[in-house]
Amino acid sequence: VPNVITIDGPSGSGKGTLAARLAVHYGYNLLDSGALYRLLGLKAEQEGLFHEGAFRGNVIPTEQLANLALTLDIQFIPDADQQLLVLLDGHDVTQVIRTEQTGHLASQVAVIPEVREALLQRQRDFAVQPGLIADGRDMGTVVFPDAPAKIYLTASANARAERRVKQLQNMAIDANIDNILSDIVARDRRDMERAIAPLKPADDALIVDSSSKGIDEVLAELIRYIDL
Ligand code: C5P
Repeated sequence: VPNVITIDGPSGSGKGTLAARLAVHYGYNLLDSGALYRLLGLKAEQEGLFHEGAFRGNVIPTEQLANLALTLDIQFIPDADQQLLVLLDGHDVTQVIRTEQTGHLASQVAVIPEVREALLQRQRDFAVQPGLIADGRDMGTVVFPDAPAKIYLTASANARAERRVKQLQNMAIDANIDNILSDIVARDRRDMERAIAPLKPADDALIVDSSSKGIDEVLAELIRYIDL
């Protein structure tokens, strides 16, 4: 069986970067499960299921969304650093799926049980030889409950807000730390308090707080744990 390593946690904890670094280190496949929810949100918008960022008529089109989830035509093409080129219906959507707007669509499809159910097998299909690094919110709790190594990566809301501000400044985007911090706190609450697949560490997960650690330091710590 392929070796599966799960890495869950809130956004801004550094888990995306660390998952990619771990995939390179071990020569494993990489699953960015958040990208699946983002792609589904984008596809649903293209299909006209949303109007001004909310479900059209405020009715959740459960069946259509579940069907889209099952038939979504996607490709993840990794480069040497496991940076993923993401294609939807053959078109490059690498940039557009990372916008706040797509994140908002993703979070609305992610709370629908039928959608999560439909995406289960698609996520498990990423587990190929010799192994998989699975990055998300519920990798260790729901999608790969039998994974032999589980990591829950977290960081204080303040640390995550500061990282986000730096990221935005690097893209020459002005950012207000107070607004970003309150967004992060609100999103944490939504993710942790939602009824389905809430964000929480698996019982057998190693919990790592990256607030005052650099990426290389955390990477070394995770590799030591995985190789035990
Ligand atoms: O991690 P990322 O920000 O790309 O995730 C996008 C959205 O998908 C988030 O709103 C998150 O709640 C949701 N998600 C999820 N389960 C996962 C990964 C992401 O519900 N395993």
